[in-house]
Amino acid sequence: MDLENAGATSRLLEGEDVPPVLEDNAEGSSPFLLTCDHYGRTIPRILGDLGLPASEFTRHIAWDPGIAGVADALSKRLDAHLIAQRYSRLVIDCNRPPEAASSIPRISEATVIPGNEGLSRDATEARRRGIFDPYHRRIAEVIDRRLRNGIPTVLVSLHSFTPVYAGIARPWHIGTLYHRDTKLPPLLLKLLREEPDLVVGDNEPYAVSDETDYTIPVHGEARGLMNTGIEIRQDLIADQAGERLWADRLGRILAEIETTLRAQRLLPV
Ligand SMILES: [Zn+2]
Repeated sequence: MDLENAGATSRLLEGEDVPPVLEDNAEGSSPFLLTCDHYGRTIPRILGDLGLPASEFTRHIAWDPGIAGVADALSKRLDAHLIAQRYSRLVIDCNRPPEAASSIPRISEATVIPGNEGLSRDATEARRRGIFDPYHRRIAEVIDRRLRNGIPTVLVSLHSFTPVYAGIARPWHIGTLYHRDTKLPPLLLKLLREEPDLVVGDNEPYAVSDETDYTIPVHGEARGLMNTGIEIRQDLIADQAGERLWADRLGRILAEIETTLRAQRLLPV
């Protein structure tokens, strides 16, 4: 356990720490802009292990298992720009408003996070400045650039969910998450439900709200972009073969959606 710096410091990322933002296919031709808030599980060196055993960092509380492989493969398959975040959601959750209690969680599911107890205002700010702000600034910059250049943009926020939460098993294979967009989510739901082998969640296992989410409300809804979140159950993408299968399936479905949106003149022809 290395906690001596976790609560006090106003520094966060230093020389050997990787940058928070990871990008792929920045010049991709697809209208889909992929984001991945819980892509990585890196911890800044100065925070040690946050007081947790290594086993906690393989769990969903630390990141969205499997989604990184899906996001990478989907970005390639669609030729879509991917913007992802490398640090663990236990350091700061990039899909929570920074003022929310769950932004820097003191408890996740049933696990107490010792390194998140009693943080000073400086330490809290350092996590926001070091990780949250650069990630969301980059997404905003990319959307600005695309709008300026007349590049159509449909925001797709990629997540994975744990098959069992607080002892309750979840039946869905995949879920759509949306709130204000009335164009993209119904199309996605329709096509997912046409897949014969899937149980599809409609705003399950989570729904989007301004209080519990950040990426979709801020970058999708407030900017007037078509948008949706996608949640894939983690046991289905627990290995490379599963990640590939799901990237292929989503790639096929999103390509079909793109064709439909163009036919409906919701995207330029
Ligand atoms: Zn997630």
